[in-house]
Amino acid sequence: MAASDKGGLILLIEDQQDTAALVGEYLGQRGYGVDYAPDGVSGLRLAVNGNYDVIVLDIGLPDMDGLEVCRQLRQQHDRPVPILMVTGRDSVDAKVIGLDAGADDYLTKPFQMREMEARLRALIRRSRHKVSSHVYTVGDMVLDTGVMQLTRNGRRLMVSPIGLKLLTILMRESPRVVARRDIEREIWGDQLPDSDTLRSHLYNLRRVIDKPFDKPLLHTIHSAGYRLADLQMRRA
Ligand code: CA
Repeated sequence: MAASDKGGLILLIEDQQDTAALVGEYLGQRGYGVDYAPDGVSGLRLAVNGNYDVIVLDIGLPDMDGLEVCRQLRQQHDRPVPILMVTGRDSVDAKVIGLDAGADDYLTKPFQMREMEARLRALIRRSRHKVSSHVYTVGDMVLDTGVMQLTRNGRRLMVSPIGLKLLTILMRESPRVVARRDIEREIWGDQLPDSDTLRSHLYNLRRVIDKPFDKPLLHTIHSAGYRLADLQMRRA
């Protein structure tokens, strides 16, 4: 699966072989790794043991239907794998029941492949974002990137979205000095802003995270960059 799973690893649980083949082929061509299960029982077994980015789950399956697979998966699996429920019944009921059973999104048959892929991509992106969440601590400042919550000395601080990105980089690299260029590139990519932009964001950030407190954590290192560190504590 090395070359084929760059888009994500997908488990397709679908009893209709022609649909499964069609979906499998399309997603395979688009760079996804696809595993296939033709019924609920084997699908559930694969889902529990595998490490999938998303599960495409048909609601109408022999032996154990999609809703039951969904329910059991939510009970057995610690890591919440996103589930895209595929329903043949175009009724609000089936959708509501599917979402109630723990599905993250649903798709009604017949569907466009492109539509399915867009839904899958969104689910994968969302779950990867969650997986990459992290709690950084520097001195008495704590940033939880999962919920984007920042506190210092137990006090909740409000920072702009770019300020939070900036802080995430500096806290991740702390106590290392990060070059201005590296920060700019990580935040703005190739669309580098003028030289005052980063400085003004840093100014605003300082106002919130350092000004109200005794000890500054954000330090400018002349002609080298910036570092976030509790220097007094490090010296002690
Ligand atoms: Ca079916």
